[in-house]
Amino acid sequence: MTSECQFSDCFHDNEPGCAVLARLEAGSISRERLESWRRLRDEMAELDDLLEAQARKRERTGRAPRN
Ligand SMILES: [Zn+2]
Repeated sequence: MTSECQFSDCFHDNEPGCAVLARLEAGSISRERLESWRRLRDEMAELDDLLEAQARKRERTGRAPRN
C-alpha cells in the first residue's frame, strides 16, 4: 500500500499529493483498509521504539560506568 504513495513515510492523512488519499477520494480504497493500515503502522512504530529502547539499554549496560 505504501508503494502507491510517493512519500515513503506518508501517514496518508492529509499530505498534499498523497496517492493513497487520492484513491480513497476516488473510492478505490476503503476507509476501513486505510484504518487497518494505520493501526498496523502504529504497532510497527511501537515495536521500533521498543527495539530502540532495548538497543540503548544494551549500549548503556555494555559499557563501563564513567564515574
Ligand atoms: Zn500517502
